[in-house]
Amino acid sequence: MTLYSLETGKYDKALLRIVHTQDYQRFKGAGFNAQLRAITELFGEAGLQKVIDGSSDEFKQWAKKKVLENEWVPDRVGAEGLSQADKILGKGDLTVIRKLGYMVAKYNLSGIYKAFVKLTTIESLLKRADVVWKKYYSDGYIEILTQEPKHYIFEIVNYQPYPSSCIALLGWLDTFLEVYKLKGTATHPECKNRGGKHCIFEMTWK
Ligand SMILES: [Zn+2]
Repeated sequence: MTLYSLETGKYDKALLRIVHTQDYQRFKGAGFNAQLRAITELFGEAGLQKVIDGSSDEFKQWAKKKVLENEWVPDRVGAEGLSQADKILGKGDLTVIRKLGYMVAKYNLSGIYKAFVKLTTIESLLKRADVVWKKYYSDGYIEILTQEPKHYIFEIVNYQPYPSSCIALLGWLDTFLEVYKLKGTATHPECKNRGGKHCIFEMTWK
């Protein structure tokens, strides 16, 4: 098999997917900036500085420059910020990552989605989850596997998650439940980072 066929003039999509590895994934500047804002809000300027000091040169460069909201940042840089914050400012048990994801989602939903949230139900928001995903990630999409009353299962397809990406996404789901004032839980029963074939998320509420 060849990546590009001279006969048909087309790329082999299945192969492109393999070539397109984790290192090429991009995360939107708006999300990266929101993460830095959340770290600052939780741990102060000094906390953010600790994360920067303890991170790679690549992270330092991105954290130092004014990243535009529409700019693409390497996904690994966003993921590093989350996991370093958890290690340096938290207990390294992922709790801080989930909390940061929750805060980033709150900024997002209190912005452009505020009116939408007021007018609709969590079901309509979850139907649009893929739109929200694509606002932040260059790769992958959300495929809904089950959507029943008060029960929702979805998969992140075509994306190689960093452990922190999955945990931050759980934080987003916490926010979804909260803004609709629902008592419920969000879990991640199968994860590529835990040896699973898929990244599956599940939500239930009363
Ligand atoms: Zn996962």
